[in-house]
Amino acid sequence: MTNEYLRRVYAEVEKRDAGEPEFLQAVREVFESLELVIDKHPEGEKAGLIERFVEPERVVEFRVPWVDDSGKVRVNRGYRVQFNSAIGPYKGGLRFHPSVNLSVIKFLGFEQILKNSLTTLPMGGGKGGSDFDPKGKSDGEVMRFCQSFMTELYRHIGQFTDTPAGDIGVGAREVGYMFGQYKKIVDRFDGGVITGKGLSYGGSLARTQATGYGICYYSAEALKKLANESYEGKTVVVSGSGNVAQYCAQKVMQLGGKVVAMSDSAGYVYDPHGIDLNVLFDIKQRRRARISVYADEVPGAEYHEGCKNIWNVKCDIAHPCASQNEMDAVGAQTLVDNGCMAVFEGANMPLTPEAIEIVQKNGLLYSPGKASNAGGVATSGLEMSQNSIRMSWSFEEVDEKLHGIMVNIFNACYDASVECGKPGDLMVGANVAGFLKVAEAMMAQGVV
Ligand code: NDP
Repeated sequence: MTNEYLRRVYAEVEKRDAGEPEFLQAVREVFESLELVIDKHPEGEKAGLIERFVEPERVVEFRVPWVDDSGKVRVNRGYRVQFNSAIGPYKGGLRFHPSVNLSVIKFLGFEQILKNSLTTLPMGGGKGGSDFDPKGKSDGEVMRFCQSFMTELYRHIGQFTDTPAGDIGVGAREVGYMFGQYKKIVDRFDGGVITGKGLSYGGSLARTQATGYGICYYSAEALKKLANESYEGKTVVVSGSGNVAQYCAQKVMQLGGKVVAMSDSAGYVYDPHGIDLNVLFDIKQRRRARISVYADEVPGAEYHEGCKNIWNVKCDIAHPCASQNEMDAVGAQTLVDNGCMAVFEGANMPLTPEAIEIVQKNGLLYSPGKASNAGGVATSGLEMSQNSIRMSWSFEEVDEKLHGIMVNIFNACYDASVECGKPGDLMVGANVAGFLKVAEAMMAQGVV
């Protein structure tokens, strides 16, 4: 970092938020991309623009007590970080996972500001969640937890204030329980207060598929424009096996690629014939079982312990779709050595800074999650639009809009990379394109 202003603010953040490694990692990555913009706009310093940009507008932390099936009282911790509302109401998912803490939620909320800006929809950035682990819990336990979580969260959200959605550990079931509790407390059917809802009560067709499909729409555009290539005939590795990974894999196959490996947090499966998604969906969506079951049931498939080893599988294109920092320098170097041509992120910040450096230095195409996975939140925006006009669009209509949005996001990232003198550097492009709109709105609205 050479810009003095950015260096000074980063040093302050480092001191103040010393115990928040994921947040610092996200801030540093963004700052490194913004040097040229800040050099060009010295007026930002006088307005304290960057100091305000890295400080959440509001952080809520709360107790979530609930009763398990044996009658024992359990207590988890809930969070909502309302990071930036310059261009619209806060918007961002809720994550339920034991690894959730303030640092994780702040990094996700910070990334969300830029991601939402890239969609061109009027959505500010926020994120929330809890260290609750839905894995192994009964439906009743999950429902009681979600109700308790919403009993506090409801007072901080609203369709014009803050509109959560799903993320890791929060799918249609959890969103349903939370929406039900919100509706009961406020005694109003405010459909737009939360997205990822079921189709029978205001959800949008194609929202379930949107993040995964969107990754492929974006990546197909990048492959075409930057390498004159496509998914046709490519071998692809998709890490994770949750919502994002499942529909990313499905779209890869529809576009002519072959997904040969997928994972969960315990290990990965390799299927040289291509992952059978009917089996995988049944294991993950219906049985909520481990991915190792796939290898027990599909002849020729292998299961390997250790999810990080999935990058040992030779591929042309890698889509990390599980969680932050899931690919380190070793994983990235292995991909390079095996002749991989592109890494398009599906998860948020899945590559460590060292992994990004290796991928970029070796000339692989690379896109940060905040650009390539923005289809999920974009379609959440479309769900809110449908709720507001009290109409539902067909799957094809939503999918077409999603496709258009992802192509536009790619173009915005590419154009910004060219303007910054780094054509094809989609990380710089995404950060700059996302930042400029938010910065302009913040400057216009004064010191708030
Ligand atoms: P899910 O809960 O549906 O799936 C998460 C998957 O990642 C599971 O296979 C899980 O395995 C695995 N996983 C979780 N933590 C780790 C870990 N520490 N190491 C390795 N694997 C892990 O979540 P989503 O698919 O919704 O989210 C995946 C990623 O995509 C996240 O980074 C999320 O923030 C991002 N994202 C999600 C969007 C959405 O619309 N859902 C939108 C934009 C981004 P296991 O079952 O063993 O825990």
